[in-house]
Amino acid sequence: VQNAVPGVAKLHPYQPGKPVDELARELGLNPDDIVKLASNENPLGPSKRVLAAIEAELPELTRYPDGNGFELKQALSSRFDLKPNQITLGNGSNDVLDLIARAFLQPGTNAVFSQYAFAVYPISTQAVGADLNMVPAKDYGHDLSAMAKAINSQTRVVFLANPNNPTGTMFGRDEFRTFMTEVPGDVLVVLDEAYSEYVSDENYPDGIELLTDYSNLVVTRTFSKAYGLASLRVGWAASAPEIADLLNRVRQPFNVDSLALAAAKAALADVDYLEAGKKLNDQGLIQITEALDAKGLSYIPTKGNFIAVDFAQDTAAINQAFLEKGVILRPIANYGLPNHLRVSIGTQEENQRFITVLNELDLNGE
Ligand code: PMP
Repeated sequence: VQNAVPGVAKLHPYQPGKPVDELARELGLNPDDIVKLASNENPLGPSKRVLAAIEAELPELTRYPDGNGFELKQALSSRFDLKPNQITLGNGSNDVLDLIARAFLQPGTNAVFSQYAFAVYPISTQAVGADLNMVPAKDYGHDLSAMAKAINSQTRVVFLANPNNPTGTMFGRDEFRTFMTEVPGDVLVVLDEAYSEYVSDENYPDGIELLTDYSNLVVTRTFSKAYGLASLRVGWAASAPEIADLLNRVRQPFNVDSLALAAAKAALADVDYLEAGKKLNDQGLIQITEALDAKGLSYIPTKGNFIAVDFAQDTAAINQAFLEKGVILRPIANYGLPNHLRVSIGTQEENQRFITVLNELDLNGE
């Protein structure tokens, strides 16, 4: 144990939400009565085209998957105007973030990331024995100018999430471009766009479109959210071919399985599913923010498929009250936000379950 990489014993493991069945047992509730708004998942259920693609793949289960993900890379290349050699596939985008840490960080170096940023950045950084260089947030979001100033001679990577999870905050194109002029060219900038599909803001800097301008940029995307494949674990990175080459060298040979490859390709083609999910999310955000406004609660303005609600008091008891009514939310005290609960946007009925419990809460008496 004493020989573990120094950062490993210090890191706080990622805390996933409990599975619905386990919670139902604990709470004595019927799993069908439980509404899970805790993991920023797609509430639509799987796309029919995805299910058909998985079924067609089943007879090949005894075979190893295509370790190079040829077909999915082809599909991503044509959809996003990239070359296949710019793409790295991962077992979820978490895997890609981890590949970046393994290829670019080591003891004695550091990674810059923002306070309240996605939890995997410090985990992947510490796992390889590198140092955390955390920069205080501004209005719950990334303070890009402070992040540029925090870069020092040991910095090898900057992790940015746009929009960020769990806060939902977004930075704009001009701010990002200014930031990139301030970053030394040998520091890798990782732009995590796990929620990009939900953003309709015209100032949003689409990282893939900006790749041609910055050779030190890596953009990560996922099939877990808007494409509805969280369980199958498919994420990817787009970058200059030289960076993709390094990431692919440290990648496990078969890190994305054949069902996931087939499903992701089908999901990419199912434009109607993507659009329906975005529409549902836009409507759900209005539905939930109207209820929060009516209750007099504030929240962090969000561009994602979730919203961090400020209850202005420790939320442990409030979270428990929601749980007992079968509504699972995400406490984010582990991010340093003990007064906030994160609510993922669900279907209209699921959102209404959240709103009903919210309206029953006696927040002053709690
Ligand atoms: N980045 C951000 C900002 C996220 O919120 C998540 C999912 N919680 C991920 C990356 C990783 O998602 P996945 O591994 O499912 O692609």
